[in-house]
Amino acid sequence: MLQADEPDVLPLWFTDAERGWIARTVDPELAELAPLGERALARLAIAPGSADIVLVAPRAPELPLARRYAAVAARPLVIADAATLGVALGGRRPRSVTWFPSLDETDLAGSLVALRGAFAARLGHAPALGALTAETVAQLTWLLVKQLLPRDPREATLTFASTSETSERPSSSLAVLGTDHKVAEVVRRLHGAAGTLLINSHSRPHCGILRVADGPVGLCGLASGGAGGRCIDGSACYFGEAPRVVMQDLRAPRVLFNGCSTANIGGRRADYLPRAAMVSHAALRSQARELVGNVRLVLSDEVDLDWFLAGSALGYPPAQGVELIEAARRASGREVLASALYFGDAANPAWPAEGVSQGEVVIDDDGAAVRWASLDRVLVARVDGRRWAELAAADRLHVSGERPSHVIVAVIPDPWGDRSLVLALPRGEHARGGERAGALTLRLRPLAEPIDRALGETLERAVEHVRWLEALPSFATVLAGASRRLEAELVQLRRIASSRMNLLMLRELLDQVWLDEVRAACRFDDAIIDEALVRSRQSWDVVVEYAHRLHAVPSATASTCDGCGSFATAVDYTDHASVGIERTITGCGHCGVVADMPVCALRVRILSDDLTYAADRVTGRVEITNEDDRPRRVALGVAIAMGGELLPASVARTTVILDGGSASTFAFQLLPAAPLTQFLALRAFLASEGAFGVAATSILFRPNRIA
Ligand SMILES: [Zn+2]
Ligand SMILES: [Zn+2]
Ligand SMILES: [Zn+2]
Repeated sequence: MLQADEPDVLPLWFTDAERGWIARTVDPELAELAPLGERALARLAIAPGSADIVLVAPRAPELPLARRYAAVAARPLVIADAATLGVALGGRRPRSVTWFPSLDETDLAGSLVALRGAFAARLGHAPALGALTAETVAQLTWLLVKQLLPRDPREATLTFASTSETSERPSSSLAVLGTDHKVAEVVRRLHGAAGTLLINSHSRPHCGILRVADGPVGLCGLASGGAGGRCIDGSACYFGEAPRVVMQDLRAPRVLFNGCSTANIGGRRADYLPRAAMVSHAALRSQARELVGNVRLVLSDEVDLDWFLAGSALGYPPAQGVELIEAARRASGREVLASALYFGDAANPAWPAEGVSQGEVVIDDDGAAVRWASLDRVLVARVDGRRWAELAAADRLHVSGERPSHVIVAVIPDPWGDRSLVLALPRGEHARGGERAGALTLRLRPLAEPIDRALGETLERAVEHVRWLEALPSFATVLAGASRRLEAELVQLRRIASSRMNLLMLRELLDQVWLDEVRAACRFDDAIIDEALVRSRQSWDVVVEYAHRLHAVPSATASTCDGCGSFATAVDYTDHASVGIERTITGCGHCGVVADMPVCALRVRILSDDLTYAADRVTGRVEITNEDDRPRRVALGVAIAMGGELLPASVARTTVILDGGSASTFAFQLLPAAPLTQFLALRAFLASEGAFGVAATSILFRPNRIA
């Protein structure tokens, strides 16, 4: 029948049993057609155009249908696959490509990447692409006819379902469903949505999962809708008997389902999920005539929906809007290869957009200003020139604005012109009720130097030092869990530093993050010194606890004893377990171990010339030197080993902040509660950013010496 010479007739194949389904999902009048009956459409919902091509692979079962579709739409038909595309296109530069993937496609993700690559090689970019496919040839005719039929005006309403807190963002005129709604209501409203449906949730190929207030909502791809708590072949459904959204029962003519594999149409594994169970096919056999999904796993984010909405408000058709999603994912470092795919005629018009406000742009000498007269869920603006997005990608764009903690800003290149797109998303209080009337102005300014994102090295080293100390019996209690806590903070701050989700006041934010990092790195320094001082009252030799871990680098450097000025040896050690832990131990033949320090830019020295001692009093000064190129906070403590309790008037403990390249001294005064009468060690402990060191000298307390 498809071979008949009537190219302007598009078949619609269904059985008598399917009439009810066709009436509901395609058209009630067409459902009444007798076998071989025809109905002429006065006006088509799709526009003809010589720059809008129809693409189908050679010898494919869907080729005759694609030929009819192209003829009806008065569009050029290009018969090619990715390998032959270049030749088949000839000199054509199509504006849009309506693609018929193979009906027995088992690797759509791979085919999509190959096809986009072939177009990019030819045109320099991927075209606006729309795919038309179904489980069977018959069902493909349903989808094709849906592209042609006039649209219902009710399609203009919008429903937005996402896993974010809906109360955190202005909902505008949208119906927004999210974590603060209940399962039953979400199911009812998703089924009832008669306009555009935007969903952001986790998904498997056959089943989406949207977590809301009282549990997860299933978005089921099965024709049975998971009745009786049964999934494929009678296996148990994750959602049990709970109410769920049955994808094929959706009323919405336009559906964007941003989750993993929501555009998967079938795979190679015969033992796996049947094609009919895929959420993509289920949505396309519902009333939906258009669908946006992802062909594979993605780091999907609600912001993808916002970009799509923003694109729709700017007039981008869905086949172009998905490219905005891709550009946003690339700009935020989430994706490199395309995953979002639009099902529908590539020349279909822009989807209705609500909750989007467009900003005014003023370019001046030092940058650009974007002003939104009123706030809404999504704020978008188009700025001439790609360079703004390129600056953002190179960390050389400074974006400033009011109340930065309440607005998220992204800048991406417009895939469809020499422009940049600015997106601003108000959050929290700023986004609610009364404040929506407020305006927002953002200033974009190029930076001469890129923003430094290299954060975390200091804290990373601190984690290593603290973990090392934590392993020593002396510090096991006081530092219990400390390295794990610091590591969690390290992860958090590195996430912030690497995030490309928000450009607003990024440099200022990272400056603050750096301060937080140093504060975290120093968090346990005081506790380390306090513990060292307490333990020093009794016999305490911490070196014994780690000596077996250390491995001497077989070369000792000649050094001078800080205590007596004699020849001393400095031996470098590395740790057997933590390669980053390096220490230098300096020994003097007369004074013993005079320094046991981590290899770092800090130095501590007991000034022997200033030292005075007697059985009931030891005074002197400790010198701390910072050879780092930045300020360092140093916790210091001085103790006499085995010296017992000190009287309260003692000065044994301090914290100093030293500028880079500077030195300072600490005058200490130790007043032992019981007189000292033997050969003892005086120790000065240092802790900075988790690194712990000690300088020492020996004192012989003679019984007759009382000050
Ligand atoms: Zn299920
Ligand atoms: Zn997933
Ligand atoms: Zn010495």
